[in-house]
Amino acid sequence: MVSTEVFKKIPKVDLHCHLDGCVRTPTIIELAKKQKVKLPTTNVEELNKYVRVSPDCRSLTEFLKAFEFFYPLLQNPYAVEKIGYELCEDAASENIKYLEVRFAPFLQTSENFKITDVVKICLDGLRQGSRDFKISVGLILCCYRSIPKEANIITVELAKKYFDSGIVAMDLAGDETRYPTRDFAEPFVLAKKYKIPFTVHAGESSGPESIKEAVKLGASRIGHGVHLIDDSNLMKEIKEKEIPLEICITSNVQTHVVNDFESHPIKKFYDNGIIVTINSDDRSVSGIDLTNEYNVAVNRLGFDISALIKIIHNGINALFTPNKNKASLSKIVETEINALGIGV
Ligand SMILES: [Zn+2]
Repeated sequence: MVSTEVFKKIPKVDLHCHLDGCVRTPTIIELAKKQKVKLPTTNVEELNKYVRVSPDCRSLTEFLKAFEFFYPLLQNPYAVEKIGYELCEDAASENIKYLEVRFAPFLQTSENFKITDVVKICLDGLRQGSRDFKISVGLILCCYRSIPKEANIITVELAKKYFDSGIVAMDLAGDETRYPTRDFAEPFVLAKKYKIPFTVHAGESSGPESIKEAVKLGASRIGHGVHLIDDSNLMKEIKEKEIPLEICITSNVQTHVVNDFESHPIKKFYDNGIIVTINSDDRSVSGIDLTNEYNVAVNRLGFDISALIKIIHNGINALFTPNKNKASLSKIVETEINALGIGV
């Protein structure tokens, strides 16, 4: 039996983590105070009821409500820098070696906070956090399904400007049921032209057709991809093309993409030879960390430790980073796992 303490010490990589879903509750209180915004309570436990989904959350609507509550507090430079910095500390504290964090910079803008500055400030916070807490960090910029087309094009241009200076890839996020993936060819054709790799949230709330469209666009990874289970031919294609899935187990249960932990298809994907990775998604809103997700994988979904280690290496191989970085990270991870006495 592996203890939570050991799960915490296992070296990890997180490929799917939303900056705006990882804001600490005390930070929300501090940001509100600074901006003279009145909160219903300044007690952390009490405020958690507003900014975190309850452990038995069962709908996407309930899940998104938590974001609405604190989002206006994040649209300023101080907040963006601080939450980036603190996320590095939180991730490093559970031995995440490499964090790929993502956000849609357009959503953080305000009248006095332009999109270029949002990206610059966010990179500053992450860089500082990466240095202070000894964690490698790559930023993924998200195009967002419900924002104006021009804003997504600007997002790609910014990714190009800061590519290799902290930005490693792009993503498409937002409501895939109302804004289908096929409508976003333009920004991603541009991303391809600039040789910026990208992932796409697909097959989370929509069916396998959304994953098909993401593959057609040229996605090198799929965010969630849970509904791949509904299409065996597509499963074969994803396997053959070796496209990794960024799975976020608790998030999928909370948003009711799956009915419960036990019915999550990740184990079936794994057993079928599909490349799966395990990630956190929105640690604060979900009230979890990656340690919890590893624990769930082993104790509720039937993975053994050797499979978990394989999944960690899947994550390393799927990172948006050059192969030489992957090879050195792989070695570090192997050494630490052996030192924990759980290697195979
Ligand atoms: Zn996500």
